[in-house]
Amino acid sequence: MRRMATERRAYGEPPRPGGGAAATKGGVHDSDEAVAPEPDPGPCDLCGGPIPPSLQIFSLVPDSSVIHPEDPGQDGQRLLAACSPEHLSDLQQHYRRRPYVNEELWSGKIARALRAHPEGLDDEHLVQATGLNVIQIEHALSWESERFLRGETLPGADGTTPGADERPADEW
Ligand SMILES: [Zn+2]
Repeated sequence: MRRMATERRAYGEPPRPGGGAAATKGGVHDSDEAVAPEPDPGPCDLCGGPIPPSLQIFSLVPDSSVIHPEDPGQDGQRLLAACSPEHLSDLQQHYRRRPYVNEELWSGKIARALRAHPEGLDDEHLVQATGLNVIQIEHALSWESERFLRGETLPGADGTTPGADERPADEW
């Protein structure tokens, strides 16, 4: 029942007849959500400067705000790219200070599942689509609404925290 992983590359869009999966890769994205880091990082995550090809410094850090567009196995980790060892260590410190919140990760998974199913999902299908259990889903939703009420944003979320303002009404 894991239809979403392979067939639905462009989330929130209906599948296009005859459309190619290749066409949606990387470029066109109707959603205003940012995409999780690609394996091919661009500029330095700290200063935005170019990364010399000879000096590719990457680091994978835990970050509960990161939801991979397709692969749930890569949720919760951010690939940092830096132009120098100094900038990499600054970045690592930044994310080390950032709290890792399971509920944040879970709500990201829920938001991704709902983007793939704009028609809404009932509890059973939401469990299937997210890989979470009902308790985790409840925790994630109450965490999200509490955070919303407080107007809180965790640092380092790049303003991309999924689902905060676009979640469909409580259809499920
Ligand atoms: Zn830099």
